[in-house]
Amino acid sequence: MAQTASFKDYLNSFLLIELLKGMKLTGKYFFSRTITVQFPEEKTPQSPRFRGLHALRRYENGEERCIACKLCEAVCPAMAITIESDVRDDGSRRTTRYDIDLTKCIFCGFCEESCPVDSIVETHIFEYHGEKRGDLYFTKDMLLAVGDRYEAEIAKNKEADAKYR
Ligand code: SF4
Ligand code: SF4
Repeated sequence: MAQTASFKDYLNSFLLIELLKGMKLTGKYFFSRTITVQFPEEKTPQSPRFRGLHALRRYENGEERCIACKLCEAVCPAMAITIESDVRDDGSRRTTRYDIDLTKCIFCGFCEESCPVDSIVETHIFEYHGEKRGDLYFTKDMLLAVGDRYEAEIAKNKEADAKYR
């Protein structure tokens, strides 16, 4: 039995069977649909629930949505959010400081889920980076700027996701 097996191995080796099997597999994938994505020119589809860079949103009249309730700060498991607030002359409460340290953030989405006014959101943006620790410390102005820039996409994704909530 052992002799038969070794003769078979010898024959396979002599006829380059393993090589032919490998070439057959290569040939099969050579002509099949390409799966590799040529990033950044090509992108994979994203869920409306993708959790990327954070943003603070405004209402259409330009007023910031955040009412400084601090629910997001309280729920954040990474303690990445720091909020300070004050009462304005008109009696409304607004944040005077809203920082997110993205080096602490674990992108769990709890802040977005907890917000009663859809103010803090996680956008579809994942192409950002920092070259030193401080670069990923996002202040209120930076977060509002992200929200202003991507409001159309944020609103579209919120609408697409609404029917599943
Ligand atoms: S995504 Fe999670 S970890 Fe990041 S700031 Fe929001 S609650 Fe905190
Ligand atoms: S972002 Fe939302 S949850 Fe956080 S303090 Fe503002 S209103 Fe409250």
